[in-house]
Amino acid sequence: MKRWNGWGDINKHKPLSNMAYNYLTNLLGKFDITPDIEQKILLKSIPNSKISNSFLNTNPLDRLLHARGQSFPDWISFKHGRIDSFPEAVAYPETQEDIKKIIHFAKYQEMSLIPYGGGTSVAGHINPNPDSRVITLNMQKMNSVLNINITNRLADIQAGANGLQIEHQLNSQGYTLGHFPQSFEYSTLGGWIATRSSGHQSYYYGRIEDLFYNGIIENLNGSIPIKGFPASAAGPDIRQFILGSEGRLGIITKANMRIRKLPEKEVFYGVLFKNWKLGENAVRTAVQQDLQVSMMRLSDSTETLVNFKLSGENKFVNIAEKYLPKLGFSSNRCMLIFGVTGKKKKVNQTIKEARSIFNTFKSSPLIKYIGKSWNKNRFLIPYIRNSLWDAGFGLDTIETSIQWDKVNFMSEELKKTISVTFEGLGERVLVFSHLSHIYKEGASIYVTYIFRRKSNPDELLIIWETVKKAVSKKIVEVGGTISHQHGIGVDHKPFVHFEKGKLGLDAISSVINTFDPNGMFNPGKLID
Ligand SMILES: Cc1cc2nc3c(=O)[nH]c(=O)nc-3n(C[C@H](O)[C@H](O)[C@H](O)COP(=O)(O)OP(=O)(O)OC[C@H]3O[C@@H](n4cnc5c(N)ncnc54)[C@H](O)[C@@H]3O)c2cc1C
Repeated sequence: MKRWNGWGDINKHKPLSNMAYNYLTNLLGKFDITPDIEQKILLKSIPNSKISNSFLNTNPLDRLLHARGQSFPDWISFKHGRIDSFPEAVAYPETQEDIKKIIHFAKYQEMSLIPYGGGTSVAGHINPNPDSRVITLNMQKMNSVLNINITNRLADIQAGANGLQIEHQLNSQGYTLGHFPQSFEYSTLGGWIATRSSGHQSYYYGRIEDLFYNGIIENLNGSIPIKGFPASAAGPDIRQFILGSEGRLGIITKANMRIRKLPEKEVFYGVLFKNWKLGENAVRTAVQQDLQVSMMRLSDSTETLVNFKLSGENKFVNIAEKYLPKLGFSSNRCMLIFGVTGKKKKVNQTIKEARSIFNTFKSSPLIKYIGKSWNKNRFLIPYIRNSLWDAGFGLDTIETSIQWDKVNFMSEELKKTISVTFEGLGERVLVFSHLSHIYKEGASIYVTYIFRRKSNPDELLIIWETVKKAVSKKIVEVGGTISHQHGIGVDHKPFVHFEKGKLGLDAISSVINTFDPNGMFNPGKLID
């Protein structure tokens, strides 16, 4: 069962070790822990729904669970019971016909519809606007792989299928989609397409826009096929309208996705560099020399240290702390996790090439244990947010991407901005970053910050808003994208015009008006 006010399955935990707890409290200071509001108290505060229909669910619990997503402000809302808008009803369609019925009912009632996948948005995508009457349409019952066309290497998949469901169904036939965002257990195909998601191994498998071949979107115009071709020169590609549409154009009901045979071999390694500069140059050289890795993820020295502390593998950490400095890997060391996927022979060859490239940057030997442990725990890592919250800490992340010649500058500026902003608020923060996805021309930068949470939710929200604003301003000032993979939602909306310009926003607005002239689908998200 899913946690109602935190991340993930209630039976899964990533506890905070004593080592990690002591490290964080020494660094961030003492605090008061306020208990979370009880669900039953929150349920009582939900106003009655004013609509009823046999295919709509209006019970308070369903409405509560669909009121917010997974952003930090969403967590404050759930944990402190400060939710000022709920959907009037939640629908769980099982067929395309159900979806049509719900759309026409909403039109008749002059209500908005919010397409809902897994609710894992971290940018306020699925939160109802306080001033609109909303039906949330949860796609979870449309979760099947309908057909695998082996000749064309395409799988027709219903949009409500989450990562686990997709891989389970494809793997049983020897195939994989290869899309592994960290929210994989809950996020869905429709959500990935609508937010332009990126999975861990996107360097090998491609981002969701590379995997999306064609699909169907349902709105008041009916079922609109979004056609795909192996390649086409027939003007602008309509598929690009759907990618990143954030629910504004209608409901994506299914999509044909490019799939691959399950790889013969897949490995992950850890490797250490003596400092950031060596590590960054190594990954840039590797990618520009066409090293056929599936992923590279380079942590800065603070994240390298924090990963050691939070790993809970105290024995390993103690040995590493004792011997690494003797080998020249002092506190500036930076950890790279990389993966290789594909045919056995090619994988073995790539590992050799990786070793040789990294050696020229004075790396440590490749460490299989670290790569293996990362792969084993990669979907468990987000569960640390639950343990951190319970111990009195908040955690949030910021992400962007930028060209190589500005990667280091951007990364340093973002960390500085976060630290200075916390200092101005009279608080301390632990901030660190990694390059999460690499490209020939640049990389995405993923910054994490941990701070002690305030018991007063208003104060906590002010801290978050102040940091978010300062850091978003810095992203656009340095020239990065406001989002590499999380989308716009409402949280990034004030900054999207820096990237698209007025003409760009007008063009997006025209597309939305053309698909959805009544402004019925997820109003207020992506653009005003
Ligand atoms: C712990 C954690 C880790 C994460 N890691 C990653 C990561 O590694 N990579 C990454 O890219 N993102 C990541 N995210 C962000 C999030 O998982 C993605 O944005 C994801 O694509 C959202 O999918 P979802 O199904 O949960 O969509 P939702 O959150 O339900 O919805 C997101 C948006 O998509 C729209 N939408 C959903 N389904 C449909 C549909 N069928 N038709 C039309 N519109 C639809 C909604 O209206 C909304 O605007 C992470 C989030 C969390 C909480």
